[in-house]
Amino acid sequence: MSDGGQIGTVDTGTIIVENLNADFCDEVASMPGGENIRRCFACGTCASGCPVTNIDEEYNSRTIIHEILLGMREEVLKNPVIWFCVMCYRCYARCPQQVNFTDVMKVLRYLAIKHGYAPPDMLSDSDEVDRFAQTVRRDMIKNTIEGRKQIVEEIKARLNQSHDQ
Ligand code: SF4
Ligand code: SF4
Repeated sequence: MSDGGQIGTVDTGTIIVENLNADFCDEVASMPGGENIRRCFACGTCASGCPVTNIDEEYNSRTIIHEILLGMREEVLKNPVIWFCVMCYRCYARCPQQVNFTDVMKVLRYLAIKHGYAPPDMLSDSDEVDRFAQTVRRDMIKNTIEGRKQIVEEIKARLNQSHDQ
């Protein structure tokens, strides 16, 4: 595999056969949440509704599933993209095969930490990042609403002024 430290999906166009692990798919499928991984027929519906893919096209659930099915264990588990998912379950809701990619992601994260591909604190660290991101989002929405209220009040004040003249 050519991808050493690449941030993004792995280049499946360059596969070194001896690096493949034929048991990887079984490993994922044997864990809670990973049971339906083989049902995937690569339709791509999951990726088309994903908010992360929406901002970073290098993140693609269909590609990650393809890599699991191929047995690209090390490449998948060490790839930072497995931490990009925001666990929103949109992919699961849209999947015609009930693959449950969100829980597949949880399995990958568990395996990545268990086998030393990610720091032991990575789960709590990513939870912390999610909380911070949600706080920023909430504050920005509040500011947007407050800003709109202020604009409406300014327009009303101007209209009242023009009526008084
Ligand atoms: S929507 Fe389901 S079947 Fe289609 S690519 Fe995604 S996981 Fe596979
Ligand atoms: S759960 Fe993850 S992969 Fe699925 S749609 Fe949400 S962000 Fe994308």
